[in-house]
Amino acid sequence: MPTMIAMQLDGPGKALRRVERPMPRPAPYELLVEVSACGVCRTDLHVIDGEVAALRPIIPGHEIVGYVREIGPDTPGFKIGERVGIPWLGHTCGVCPYCLSDRENLCDRPLFTGATRDGGYATHVVADARYCFAIPERFTDIEAAPLLCAGLIGWRALRLAGGGQRIGLYGFGAAAHILAQIAVWQGRAVYAFTKTGDAQAQDFARSLGCCWAGASEDQPPEQLDAALIFAPVGALVPAALKAIRKGGRVVCAGIHMSDIPAFPYADLWGERQILSVANLTRDDGTSFFDVVQRAGIETVTTPFPLTEANTALAQLRTGQLIGAAVLIPGEFPASAS
Ligand SMILES: [Zn+2]
Ligand SMILES: [Zn+2]
Repeated sequence: MPTMIAMQLDGPGKALRRVERPMPRPAPYELLVEVSACGVCRTDLHVIDGEVAALRPIIPGHEIVGYVREIGPDTPGFKIGERVGIPWLGHTCGVCPYCLSDRENLCDRPLFTGATRDGGYATHVVADARYCFAIPERFTDIEAAPLLCAGLIGWRALRLAGGGQRIGLYGFGAAAHILAQIAVWQGRAVYAFTKTGDAQAQDFARSLGCCWAGASEDQPPEQLDAALIFAPVGALVPAALKAIRKGGRVVCAGIHMSDIPAFPYADLWGERQILSVANLTRDDGTSFFDVVQRAGIETVTTPFPLTEANTALAQLRTGQLIGAAVLIPGEFPASAS
């Protein structure tokens, strides 16, 4: 019987474990995909830490790039051998009030890749074809992986931030490095906020076109129209509120954050808004891939062999990575070592 290899999470706080499983078969509407690259997202840490609802055991990973190897019955859209991108949103019910009002990201009965259905820390994965994306040709598999969540949910956050000229990004990791390029391409001024003294991340931000980079407790030289928070740190919410103008928005883009400390109502007053971003819609994906194609976005990645997933996760946790970690299940590319 054919088998696949995966890095499996058995329970909260556990290291991922290499397992061999029977090869899954695609049901109706599903694809069997051979994974060529899978990005490592901060949400994977929240899944592993038990901070986000997930099945156990589960195979994490929701920034998946791979090739269609088998197609289930009645499945539209993809051909054998075609490249496909598999995101966090794995399935929606189609009948709840959210699905029926173009807010499928808030579906009452969703499935999420790498949390409530098995994900891409594996040689193979089964995905619902209706939630998969075609990926622009100009990206290699490794380059494309971080687009599937860091880019895509970051894009939704940027859309919710509104059309303001001055955009702050708090936490300059995988998502911010993609979003900064998009916002600069849109002609906006981008301000990057990092941990105090993280000169490497600040230099990286400036190299991508940010007009200013500093510590998250610093005041930017101008008031911002909107701030996007990617770091899972609740204290950044009152910090960002102080940096935005009247009527500005603070958008919390992560799935989990530490508690937000109390702050004076005066910092919110003036019609400032705080909002969160949850998941993605398929429309976000379609518009995002159109924009990354036109904007000439480049991603910065650090590849790891699939079996070194725990190392990649540890480096993400301690903030050692520049750009995005990507797991490679197959032969490790010589240029990447
Ligand atoms: Zn629904
Ligand atoms: Zn993610």
